[in-house]
Amino acid sequence: MSIVQAYEVIERMIISEMIDILHYDGESTIEEWADDRREKFSELNAFVITTLGYNNRRIVQGVEDAIAEAEQLISEHIQDEWGFEETQYDSTEDAEQAINFLNKNIQRSLISVFPRIGTVEQLYNRVIDLALENDSDDEIKEILHAIMLTELSQGLQTGFVQSDGIRWRLDRYVNEVEKYMYQGVFEKVLSNTLKFYGVELVKVFKYVNPRDACEELQNSGIICIVPRSEASEKAKLYPNIHDPQHKYLEPDGHSGINCRHAWHHLGAQENKASKLYKTLDKNILSLEYKRMQFMRMVERLLNR
Ligand SMILES: [Zn+2]
Repeated sequence: MSIVQAYEVIERMIISEMIDILHYDGESTIEEWADDRREKFSELNAFVITTLGYNNRRIVQGVEDAIAEAEQLISEHIQDEWGFEETQYDSTEDAEQAINFLNKNIQRSLISVFPRIGTVEQLYNRVIDLALENDSDDEIKEILHAIMLTELSQGLQTGFVQSDGIRWRLDRYVNEVEKYMYQGVFEKVLSNTLKFYGVELVKVFKYVNPRDACEELQNSGIICIVPRSEASEKAKLYPNIHDPQHKYLEPDGHSGINCRHAWHHLGAQENKASKLYKTLDKNILSLEYKRMQFMRMVERLLNR
């Protein structure tokens, strides 16, 4: 199970519980319903805390599976192009770091922690407020249904806020963490292994419109991956990834987020280049499909 799948299960459980608690039984006025549901909030909050606690094992498993997949892919690449059987890198720390990162922005925002209001609490209260404001003659049940569908189909939000104030939805945030972690492990296993076996020069293929940090590297085609102080005279003749202008491993630098320049054996053929990043892209490509499935799930829950 991927981390994204683990959180999809959690989101589904929380929203399903929210719909159950908000349900209108047809026997009270909307004001009575609202008072009663506000009292029931602590029930939902307890459920969220238990669900996240219970699912921690699932999240840990998701992280471990994603790392194992990255290690497998890069080990095949190394064996295929360089013929090295053993890879060099222990990613235990990366797994712990990813779990801490997820906990920090997701658990804290879903759970209501004084004085911060969790996003689950905000969503729940907003549905109650909107139902009270609605003065149409429609059946209370229908009003609630419409409001819940609109509000809940947005999904849950995390504590991660962009610089322009946009708060990230749970699925987008988890996708991004998974991708970032996957790519990080991928790069580290590759660079450590090549360093261990004394590889100094690798090949990079050309992309249209490379980032500034990569332009000189891809124009050269062959690049040096060991620091100048350790490089042989021959390797020193090529652009070196450790020179500051290439911003090695920085987000907007070479081997940073979405750099897409994989390192290849000097004899590698161009058609091998895209294969490595296919796995990285697959989560992002399926994000919109997942939203459609999510909306259908919310509708099913509301109509039962
Ligand atoms: Zn690049």
